[in-house]
Parts: sequence; C-alpha cells; structure tokens
Amino acid sequence: MKTSNVNVWFTCEIATDHKWLMPLQEAFKQISSPDDRLSCPCCAGLKVCASNCLENVRPDLAGMWSFEKNVEAGLKDGPGGVLAKSDGMFWVENGEGRVWEVKVRKAVGTPGLPIPPPLPVPPPAPKPEVEEKKITEVPAPTPAPISAPAPAPLHSPTSPEEDKKWKQKFTKTINALKFASGFKAIMGLGFGKKKKKPTEIKFESGDEGEEKGRA
Ligand SMILES: [Zn+2]
Ligand SMILES: [Zn+2]
Repeated sequence: MKTSNVNVWFTCEIATDHKWLMPLQEAFKQISSPDDRLSCPCCAGLKVCASNCLENVRPDLAGMWSFEKNVEAGLKDGPGGVLAKSDGMFWVENGEGRVWEVKVRKAVGTPGLPIPPPLPVPPPAPKPEVEEKKITEVPAPTPAPISAPAPAPLHSPTSPEEDKKWKQKFTKTINALKFASGFKAIMGLGFGKKKKKPTEIKFESGDEGEEKGRA
C-alpha cells in the first residue's frame, strides 16, 4: 500500500478549527509511539485559525482594518486571515481620515488602539505680500548737547616776568575801557544838558525880566 503521496486532514483537540492537511508519511515520521502527538500548526502559530487570528484575538484592533489598503498589500482574507503573532504589517485607519501601517504582533501586544504617527509639519504658508510703502524717515538731527563755553582760564603765571607782563597788559586794557566809558559819559551828560542849560539860565537870570519890567 502506497502512503507517501496521500495527504490527510488532521485536527487538534484545542479547537475545532485547528485543522491541517499533511502527507500521511510525514505524520508517521513525527509519531514513533502511540503517546506521541502531531504538532498542531495552529497552536504553533504557523497556521491561522479562529483562535489565533487577529479578528478574534483583538476584535477592537481588527475594527481599524483598512480594507482598501490591506487588499492592495495582499491581505485579501481580512483580519480573520492574519495571524495575531505575525511579524507582518497591516493597515489601520481611524475615524479621522488617517491611514497608517502597523506591525501585527506589536499592535496586538500593545493595550489600547494604535495612535496615528505625527503629521509632517506643513511648510510655512507664504506670507501675503503687502506692499509696505516704506517711508524713508529722515531721522531728526539729534540736538548737540548745549555745552556752556568753557570759562576763560584765569591767569596762572608761570614765571614772575610773565606775571608782570600780564598785569601790565591787564591794567592797560582796564584803563582803555575806563577812558572809553568815561568819554561816553561825558558825551552823554555834557552836550545833552548843555543844550538845555542856556534856556534855563536865561529863564532864571531875571535881569532881563527886571529890565523889561522896568522898561
Ligand atoms: Zn491546535
Ligand atoms: Zn481565524
């Protein structure tokens, strides 16, 4: 009896959907005694079934299944055809229009639902060009600080001869000023009153009046 090319269905007692097909000859190789058991590929996480698929292990995560993107990625059997232990990726989408890829095993092992990756920072919007009429303001000239003229330096003789010379010059200057002011004073007082004086003198003299009265 030939057994080598016969494929036989086997089942596992863990779950009814743990079924697999394998060559009978291969099965005999694994079993050498009646107590031996075949290794269930479903229990080993090698074959997807109801108890190890994403759909049943994490129904909340399976609810984020992006059908369009996963079909494009070749996952045509839906979340029921994906091993929860898979190292592969699958696409999820949230209710806010975000669609992104996650690793099956990592997403299944992480409590809660995956959060979308941060959005790329949009480039800064170009600033509306507002033509600013630049008024070229001529800066008001800063007033120069009013500095009082430096007081004339007082005479500080460096030698007795120099001191004497300076004193002579000073006296000359003072005398010249005295003369000038005195002259002015003479001009002012002298001629101005002399013009009036003759009339006063005439009025006060009384000689003529007496003479006129007598006449
Ligand atoms: Zn099993
Ligand atoms: Zn399944």
